[in-house]
Amino acid sequence: MKRGLLIILSGPSGVGKGTIRKYFEKNERLRLAYSISMTTRKPRAGEVDGKDYYFTTKEDFQNRVKNGELLEYAEFVGNYYGTPLKEVERLRDEGKNVLLEIEVQGATQVQKKCPDAISIFIIPPSMEELEARIRGRRSEPEEIIQQRLAKAANEMKMIAQYKYIVCNDDPKLAAELIETIILRHMELEEN
Ligand code: 5GP
Repeated sequence: MKRGLLIILSGPSGVGKGTIRKYFEKNERLRLAYSISMTTRKPRAGEVDGKDYYFTTKEDFQNRVKNGELLEYAEFVGNYYGTPLKEVERLRDEGKNVLLEIEVQGATQVQKKCPDAISIFIIPPSMEELEARIRGRRSEPEEIIQQRLAKAANEMKMIAQYKYIVCNDDPKLAAELIETIILRHMELEEN
C-alpha cells in the first residue's frame, strides 16, 4: 500500500484552521487523518482530551521530548505543543494522508525531517479581521490575546517557507482550495 502524504496546515491562531478542517474532514476521497497534538495548555470549554488534544503536564511533555516521541514541538504563548511521532507513522503506513495543524516553528522542523511534506499557510483577509476573530472567542485574558496577536504578526512573516498560501475570506472556499491541492498531490503520487 502507498504510504499516506504528510500535510502541514499552519496559520495564525484565530485564522479559522479548525473551521476549515471541519469542511473537509468528512471527505472520504481525501483519506485524511487528523494528527491529535499533545499540549500543556489547559482545555478550553468544550475541548475533549484525546479528540482536540492530548492534554498533559509540562513534566510529561518534557519526558516525551527527551525520549524522542515527538515529530516536532514548540512553545507557544507559554505552553508546549507537539506531534506524537508513532501515531503519524502508523496512520501514514495505513495509507492515510496525515494532517498536522501546527504553528510555524513546528512546521520548520517537519519540513527539515520530511522534505516531501505539503505545506499550506492560511492567512486572514486582514489583521483587523484576525484580531476581531481572536477577541470573538472571549476565552482568554487580554494579556494572552495581546501575545497571540504579536505571535500572529510574526508568523505572517514566515509564509515564504510554505508551498501554498490560502486566504480564509470564506472558510468553504478555503477548504475547497485545500481539497484541490491535496487531490492533486494524491494524483501525482499515483503516477
Ligand atoms: P491553540 O492554543 O489555539 O489551540 O493553539 C495554538 C497554536 O499551536 C496554533 O497555531 C496551533 O496550530 C498550534 N499547534 C497545535 N498543535 C500543535 C503541535 O502539535 N505542534 C505545534 N508546533 N503547534 C501546534
